[in-house]
Amino acid sequence: MRIVSTSPPAVPPKKGRNWQQSVHDAIRAPAQLLRLLDLPREDWAQTAGSGPSFGLFVPHEFAARMRPGDRRDPLLRQVLPVAEESEFIVGDAFDPLRESEYQTEAGLLVKYPGRALLITTGLCAVHCRYCFRQHFPYADAPKSKAAWEPALERIRADPSIEEIILSGGDPLMLSDDRLAWLVCRIQEASHVQRLRIHTRLPIMIPSRVNQELLQWLGATRLRSIIVLHANHARELDTAVDAAITQLLDARTLVLNQAVLLKGVNDDVDTLCDLSLRLIDAGVYPYYLHQMDRVKGARHFEVSLRKGRALVEAMRDRLPGYAVPKYVYEVPGAASKLAVESVGDQRGFPVAE
Ligand SMILES: *Cc1c(COP(=O)(O)O)cnc(C)c1O
Ligand code: SF4
Repeated sequence: MRIVSTSPPAVPPKKGRNWQQSVHDAIRAPAQLLRLLDLPREDWAQTAGSGPSFGLFVPHEFAARMRPGDRRDPLLRQVLPVAEESEFIVGDAFDPLRESEYQTEAGLLVKYPGRALLITTGLCAVHCRYCFRQHFPYADAPKSKAAWEPALERIRADPSIEEIILSGGDPLMLSDDRLAWLVCRIQEASHVQRLRIHTRLPIMIPSRVNQELLQWLGATRLRSIIVLHANHARELDTAVDAAITQLLDARTLVLNQAVLLKGVNDDVDTLCDLSLRLIDAGVYPYYLHQMDRVKGARHFEVSLRKGRALVEAMRDRLPGYAVPKYVYEVPGAASKLAVESVGDQRGFPVAE
């Protein structure tokens, strides 16, 4: 990447430094990111943003995969706040999935049979502008070990829970000490068989997959599943490949979930490239999500009709295992719903 200006210093990632340092050094100022990408400052609207709590946040490792000089870069679009975010649109919600209603114990969401989701932290290694949890009341999530006890007790007391999903935020933002402790406590419940981790960190900062992480992952009796989140083939580079290989070597099943986003991946070539790139890296394309109607993200929405046509076109081109399930979430439903099987609900626009 070309570094255009030096104030404030735009430091390219150094080799071999640890992931916490990468989080610390992440880009927080739109002007800094635009300067790094050789883009004019006018490309960022001053009126943008969901406020200081969800400002721009992107690690240098990810910014380095953006194309300098390209204001429509699909990686840049995922992270750069724009003026459209402050538009008010009827039907958009702060908590579109009404998740707060499912939070019975602090940090615990039990929405689907057999699976319990733990909100481990509100922190992420990137701020995705379309994130449906960007307004989530993370202050309620447990911080101390003691604060985890009610959620752990509920898991131990419910033999129907066979899978624990660590979510957030990004669970891999927790220290390895804390994660090792949490996994240890979770597996005390003998009915729990699987540990799933929803994370964007191996994509954002591949050095997060370090020896400490591989150690607790390798030590648990639980079958481990990591669900990555990449929306575009260019999010994967050789460092990401190496991180994924280490996860696979640790006998982890690695899946990906993508979100269908206008201007990022809403064409069939881009979606096919993403699927094949994932397969080549050893990752199974699990879900393609219809975006949830969270406030400030409507400019990313793709109609269900267009989404369906895109997935159909993927099916014509790709082996079956490379076609993700196209799903969306309806509050109160017993699972995520396949778009193909339910048609248009929620008053989604059918036409473009
Ligand atoms: C998505 C989700 C799950 C997992 O659903 P799968 O279809 O098994 O991937 C579990 N709990 C909650 C709250 C979720 O949002
Ligand atoms: S990494 Fe996931 S939880 Fe974090 S901002 Fe992005 S979409 Fe939201």
